[in-house]
Amino acid sequence: MTHTHRDHSPNTKLLQPVTGATTFGYGQHGADRGLAVGTGTGDFDYQPDIELKDGDIVTGNGWTLEAVHTPGHASNHLCYALKEENVLFSGDQVMGWSTTVVSEPDGHMGDYIGSLEKLLARSEERYWPNHGTCIEDPQTYVGALIAHRRDREKQIERCLQKGLDNIEDLVSEMYKGLDPRLHNGACRAVHSHLIHMIETNRAACNGAPSPEALYSLPG
Ligand SMILES: [Zn+2]
Repeated sequence: MTHTHRDHSPNTKLLQPVTGATTFGYGQHGADRGLAVGTGTGDFDYQPDIELKDGDIVTGNGWTLEAVHTPGHASNHLCYALKEENVLFSGDQVMGWSTTVVSEPDGHMGDYIGSLEKLLARSEERYWPNHGTCIEDPQTYVGALIAHRRDREKQIERCLQKGLDNIEDLVSEMYKGLDPRLHNGACRAVHSHLIHMIETNRAACNGAPSPEALYSLPG
């Protein structure tokens, strides 16, 4: 299991009685981020039979999987490297159809970018994501994902410089012509970026960095 979002881990409850399979995963939803049951939208019911840490190996008849801890999209997200084929099951960390969602409180932008850098240093030749098509030349693709996030943060810096101080105004400026259905997702992404920028002293906030708070460049 890659992670505990509701479009992933709940299926184990349906498959396990039919297959009798042992389930493997990092652990419970949000545990690394100190989330209590009921906060956020993850699947808090999921508990793997066997908990895996970064670098753990699971083997079967003719296959070897290495767990690669890649927090950011979800704090318990694992990618799995299939050694025999030198490919990576990249879960939702690297998708084939769009950039991934990074939403607080379980998501974390600094972790997400760090996980992309971790994947960039690996040598798998192909990724099989949970959503979208197979990704060839994944190092180039992952490099572009990192550059995209850095560009977004430069955009936020320019907006803060201009005096825009709240997430709604930042999103209006940064995502011109955005489909209204994507507005909430854009707000969550900008919020995650701002938290990461505060942590790295590139932004400041008038109190706790909530979605409603006022943001600025650091003093
Ligand atoms: Zn997910």
